[in-house]
Amino acid sequence: MQVLVYGAGQLAQMMYLDGAALGINVMAVDVNNNTVVHPVSKLPLECTLEQAIELADALTVEFEHVPEPLLEQAQASGKLYPGIDAILVGADRVREKALLSGLAIPNCPYQVVDDLAQLDSCVDKLGERLIIKASRDGYDGYGQWRLKTASELPALKSQLAELDLKKVPLVVEQMLSFDREVSLIGARSKSGQVVVYPLAENLHHEGQLHVSVAPAIASSAALNEQARDIFTKLVNGMDYVGVLAVELFQCGDELLVNELAPRVHNSGHWSQAGSPTSQFENHLRAVLDLPLGLACNTGGEAAVSAMINIIGCDNHNMALLGVPGVHFNWYGKTVRRKRKMGHINVTASNYAELGSKLLSLSEYLSLAHFPCLSEEASRLASES
Ligand code: ATP
Ligand code: MG
Repeated sequence: MQVLVYGAGQLAQMMYLDGAALGINVMAVDVNNNTVVHPVSKLPLECTLEQAIELADALTVEFEHVPEPLLEQAQASGKLYPGIDAILVGADRVREKALLSGLAIPNCPYQVVDDLAQLDSCVDKLGERLIIKASRDGYDGYGQWRLKTASELPALKSQLAELDLKKVPLVVEQMLSFDREVSLIGARSKSGQVVVYPLAENLHHEGQLHVSVAPAIASSAALNEQARDIFTKLVNGMDYVGVLAVELFQCGDELLVNELAPRVHNSGHWSQAGSPTSQFENHLRAVLDLPLGLACNTGGEAAVSAMINIIGCDNHNMALLGVPGVHFNWYGKTVRRKRKMGHINVTASNYAELGSKLLSLSEYLSLAHFPCLSEEASRLASES
């Protein structure tokens, strides 16, 4: 079986690696020049995009910002999963908010702004602490601005003056003081089978994900149920096929959706080592209509996993492989500030053990590049 992935980054690479074990061949499209490439070497393959579309049993995406003409060509083949509407929901915050409101799924209070003068009424309606997001092409905190007091409004307006808001409106959200950030990753197959992974807790630094822990500490059955309900409403509402990631804010006992990613997601990477079926494998199974695999933590009731992103550096000491339960994943990219270079998965039989493994790991990783690691390790280590 063959799957064609739009995008040739690390997510396509990890789909390729997991697909190979099942005899599924994954090819990637470099969307900058429409060439078909090998997902690991990135070298061009000897076929045109049209031939690869013809050859593939399913087409899918590794990111939502694929140029629309390419998505339309893929959709026309009848083999694109998830479909173009779901991908565009993930690519456009205005569509995303409309979907969430339409399905009555709790999300952050917001206003859509296509004229800077409307920012004043946002302050009236939502309060003066705001987070302003470009509705398209944002990721890892890029394309976002924050307002802390109304007095900063004139300066913010001049900063935003060059944007064409008629073309790309802003979504202005109330700045929430949530208790923590969690995410739910799940898959729905073409025949409608659904599996969800345990809720993961996500630690961000400067708008970027640094560490995920799954299951999230103290995530009750009721909280997981709430997340599962949200997931089911979303996938059924969109007739969605593939892995869908739902980023959530937890406020007390309530979950609010922050955003959706119509694809495998960084906060699900732990599943490579920590679950019987990784999110990459389940995504391939879903789009090819194969039975989905178990999405629990491997190793019994108390088993836990963490994922640590390697961001903006490539000078780690490989002696870290000596820490038991460590799995290393490298994407083969040239180092750049804030660029995700790889990640480390760690599995353990309980939180305290996970904490002590992360503490051992933190001895090999600099605080400058891994600012959340030792604090998170200590927090986990103190869990009984
Ligand atoms: P991603 O890389 O996840 O796609 P992104 O740049 O698309 O990120 P968001 O997930 O919307 O953007 O926001 C990035 C981070 O900013 C969130 O993980 C959260 O920490 C913070 N944030 C976003 N919206 C709000 C909000 N309304 N209130 C408080 N914090 C927020
Ligand atoms: Mg996000």
